[in-house]
Amino acid sequence: EAKQIPQRFLFYKPYMSKGIADRILLEQDLHNALENQEFYLDYQPQVNLKTGTVESVEALVRWRHPTRGFIPPDVFIPIAEECGLIIPLGKWILETACMQAKTWERQGLPQMKVAVNLSLGQLFQQDLVEMVEHILQRTNLEPKFLQLEITESMTMNIDQMTQLLHELKALGIQIAVDDFGTGYSSLSYLKDFPIDCLKIDRTFVRNVPNNPNDEALVSMIISMAKHLRLKVVAEGIEEVEQLSFLIEGGCDYIQGYLFSKPISPQQISETFSELHRH
Ligand code: C2E
Ligand code: CA
Ligand code: CA
Ligand code: CA
Repeated sequence: EAKQIPQRFLFYKPYMSKGIADRILLEQDLHNALENQEFYLDYQPQVNLKTGTVESVEALVRWRHPTRGFIPPDVFIPIAEECGLIIPLGKWILETACMQAKTWERQGLPQMKVAVNLSLGQLFQQDLVEMVEHILQRTNLEPKFLQLEITESMTMNIDQMTQLLHELKALGIQIAVDDFGTGYSSLSYLKDFPIDCLKIDRTFVRNVPNNPNDEALVSMIISMAKHLRLKVVAEGIEEVEQLSFLIEGGCDYIQGYLFSKPISPQQISETFSELHRH
């Protein structure tokens, strides 16, 4: 029997809101995904350009949807942010990454820092600092081996942010500013925030060494980081020419497909226990 369509839905035209309908469906699925263990983490190595060794890896969350297959984090993280799921998901990500770092340690791999992305919603989470502290205790990971990546944002005021970052730093962890240069915030926060590292966004590095403006910006960011005694990571390195430019410019670390895509924890174990033996 045909169901009566409620009056308020009569404006709905499929062509109008396919995007919205899709999003609502995804949001429903997201709620079960954590419980159904559909998330997992891959890890992308960051190479120290002075020593040629990998001292850290960035944890990147993945969602294997039971029917739609792989859904990229650029799609589901913003939805998770809006529906509040980012809080339990963010906790799961942090705990899983810290546990993984301990597992690698037990396997005898050279100890690596693990970098974990914090989303905006987590910065507003009341018990964020306690949560990080508890996870470090539970997993028994030495705090200096955890780096949290935050993005510049306009939504939190500088005082609040400075306070929060100091509390996090007091735990003994490292803090990196992700996607540096793409936000709208003023540079003045760099002198107040207790940060250890800047990550130059891929959009700046993409066109070096061909675009003089991008070259100038990248060189400037590296030199500024040096003066502020911050480490600098260049993201999204795909070409040898980019690498040469960055080595010459004195960049500390690179992360990109040229060296490695994000890979599974098992692949990290195999790759680095191999290197260790040789
Ligand atoms: P992001 O934090 O800037 O992460 C770097 C992204 O660049 C990753 O995409 C990585 O796979 C990609 N990438 C690395 N090297 C290259 C390269 O050489 N070429 C190209 N084309 N891409 C490269 P991914 O994993 O799809 O993540 C996209 C974004 O989703 C992340 O950007 C981050 O904003 C968010 N995200 C991913 N994992 C997490 C997470 O665990 N928590 C939170 N809050 N956000 C996450
Ligand atoms: Ca990141
Ligand atoms: Ca980034
Ligand atoms: Ca990004």
